[in-house]
Amino acid sequence: MGLGRADWCKKEVDLIDNRGTIVAKAYVEFAKEWQSIDGRASLGEEYVGVVVCEVIERGTSLITRTLQKWPIKKTLYEGVSLYNQERQYNENVQVHAGSHNRRGSRQYCSQRHPRLPLQTKQKEKLLNKLGIEQTLKSSCCKRQCLSQFTHDLVKILRYEMHHSDMKSKDSIRLAVHRNSYYLLGTKKQVCVLEGKVVCMSAWRMIYGVSKTDFYRYRAYAESGRRPQNHGGLGRKKTSSSIAQATQTMSMILTTRADSMPHRTRTKCSGVLKGKKVVEKILPVGTKWRTILEEVNKV
Ligand SMILES: [Zn+2]
Repeated sequence: MGLGRADWCKKEVDLIDNRGTIVAKAYVEFAKEWQSIDGRASLGEEYVGVVVCEVIERGTSLITRTLQKWPIKKTLYEGVSLYNQERQYNENVQVHAGSHNRRGSRQYCSQRHPRLPLQTKQKEKLLNKLGIEQTLKSSCCKRQCLSQFTHDLVKILRYEMHHSDMKSKDSIRLAVHRNSYYLLGTKKQVCVLEGKVVCMSAWRMIYGVSKTDFYRYRAYAESGRRPQNHGGLGRKKTSSSIAQATQTMSMILTTRADSMPHRTRTKCSGVLKGKKVVEKILPVGTKWRTILEEVNKV
């Protein structure tokens, strides 16, 4: 990891000579380049001030408990020179800073695939090649109406039916019953699809509409229903419990609340839009428990 210059102070170090032999044990006293040992010259970046603890190699000028100026390349901390410690430390800091800057800009990964649109199993089966081939192989009636259709045409028709909005789906399912007719002199009901005369079962098979759905829509067509969107769209759902709660609340309000004429507000939605409504406030001391007791009595 390396050790920064700021952390050199008080660290125990080994001092080595030119041959690489440890000559003394010491600790770092001064590590800043501007600091000075003899009061004249500053240490500079290449040296540290160390206090010698133990002289190992005899014959050097080192004396125990004296302050020495020693080159950082020859001062080992945990076996690594302070010079290398600092270099390593700075490298790590740079890598760290680099990764910090990259945060938020994740590398683009070409391995990722866009998520396929969600499809129900039934839809999937209807639109895949095998499903269509299976339909085209099967027989609708003696006339073999399905033989007039190609794989691609069936796929297009199915796609139109199953990937359109509710109103279009409704329209296609209703239209077949309004446009059907009996073949001259027979009881065979047919309709025209893409300019081809097809029997009803062929129509169902091509669009992948179930028998139940087909007859349901026949009843709708007979009753004169117009193509429409999904029944629940845009409608406010009111469950019985909500209706009950609304009733209870309005009862409490009408029987208990005082009219406060000084507090009015303009409604911004609903039936009373744009009109000023008097805000009703429950009297001071109203307790939910007493209300509940009353409600339960009813
Ligand atoms: Zn047929």
